[in-house]
Amino acid sequence: MSNTTLLFPVVMAAAEILGAALFARSANPLQRLILACFGLGFALSIVLLDMLPDATTHYASGWMLVAAGVISAAVLMYAAGERGSSLGRSGAILGLGLHNLCEGMVLAAAGSMASPLILAGAVAHKLPEGMVVFSLSNALGNAQRWALSVMLSLLIPLGTQLVMPESLRKPVLAFASGMLFVVLLKSLLILAQGENSPTRQLSRRSISAAVASGAMLAGLTCLVI
Ligand SMILES: [Zn+2]
Repeated sequence: MSNTTLLFPVVMAAAEILGAALFARSANPLQRLILACFGLGFALSIVLLDMLPDATTHYASGWMLVAAGVISAAVLMYAAGERGSSLGRSGAILGLGLHNLCEGMVLAAAGSMASPLILAGAVAHKLPEGMVVFSLSNALGNAQRWALSVMLSLLIPLGTQLVMPESLRKPVLAFASGMLFVVLLKSLLILAQGENSPTRQLSRRSISAAVASGAMLAGLTCLVI
């Protein structure tokens, strides 16, 4: 592997850890909420603009697996009741891990493509994803959250070394996108409706603005990368 192809996965992994650090360091709960909404808006857009097209292009039956993922996530969360949100969050983290592996595989397949714009896009793409991982793992202790964030970011360089047959990658990605979509949407609703959370001090408008700007940034980074 040449130096330029190694540069991307390493920079992206570092940006993801930096995103987690930015989230972890914001002690102000309002600021954390805005960051989490921004990150979730970003992640939802990534599922729609990046993962779904990746999983279903030249693979029409992938949509059936997307639907199966959506239904499984909804049923699982319903069945788990109160514990549903923590179960859903673990599922979302798994889905993001898979997304990172796929990003590594795509990088390896694309080969050398270093340009300052693409590199900036890659950083802007991974920062919010790091924030989402850290905010979704709020059931864990601080050290575990860090370990999880670092492990997940390492899946990008690992993905560049992985050879998974296309016939296996697309179905898995399709199912994961469906699940991830439901879980991220649910996490966003939980955040936006939080009864005893700082949400009450925050207007609907600022929450929507945070989600929308995350989604727009995702759209931009998908255009660049
Ligand atoms: Zn990504």
